[in-house]
Amino acid sequence: MRVYIIGAGPGDPKLLTLRGAELIASCPVVLYTGSLVPREVLVMARADARVIDSSSMTLDEIMETIATASDRGEDVARVHTGDPLIFGSTAEQMRRMDALGIAYEIVPGVSSFSAAAAAIGRELTLPELSQTVILTRAEGRTPMPVREQLSDLARHGATMCLFLSITLLKDVVDALVPSYGADCPVCVVHKASCPDQVIATGTLADIASRVKSAGIKTQAMILVGRVLTSTDFAESRLYAADFSHRHRKAKRMVSR
Ligand code: SAH
Repeated sequence: MRVYIIGAGPGDPKLLTLRGAELIASCPVVLYTGSLVPREVLVMARADARVIDSSSMTLDEIMETIATASDRGEDVARVHTGDPLIFGSTAEQMRRMDALGIAYEIVPGVSSFSAAAAAIGRELTLPELSQTVILTRAEGRTPMPVREQLSDLARHGATMCLFLSITLLKDVVDALVPSYGADCPVCVVHKASCPDQVIATGTLADIASRVKSAGIKTQAMILVGRVLTSTDFAESRLYAADFSHRHRKAKRMVSR
């Protein structure tokens, strides 16, 4: 018996990995995290599978379901949205499984920050502009570690992706403006990769009103950084003609 912790991807069922799909189609128990896991993914389950929504369960109840399957020798597909290891609350389940001696395997997924970047068609890392992506959240009911206050992280000026923060957008803006500047570009993507995806773009100065008029209230990724609009960024060294690397020799530059 084994528990497969599977990333379902951001919403488009075609963004589920082949390995994830194969396991969902073969496990007798499918335990999924509720509304963000697409229907089309769940219908892949065996006709006789027990397909269970965990959104109203406590950790104890989730573990009880897993332990019961373990007693029966039934494999479990534990399906999480996006990638299971980013804001997935999977570590606590793995710790309990370690204690119970239940074997598990992790199948990564396409995270919503990747899907949001794809939706707006922008690379998150650009040479000389930002070579760092900060994946974080605003402080809500879950406290942030003292050394990870948004205003401190903002000092790097790196590209920032904020999960779970759309209802705290005003706090996000207040924390970021001093370092990024009020004119810094922001994109908010609601339900990236889904048919009802909505994108709001603006700057730190006006993003709150743009999100409001777009009617975005939930399930949104906030992307912040100069990379979102820059057009005069440097080209990467990877494809530069005068740059050698393992797969290509530099072309000799002829000076006239
Ligand atoms: N493990 C998930 C994140 C789960 S936390 C992942 O890797 O994407 C839930 C948060 O993820 C939401 O509040 C929202 O900020 C973001 N999110 C999940 N799916 C999304 C989607 N399709 N579009 C935009 N944001 C999404």
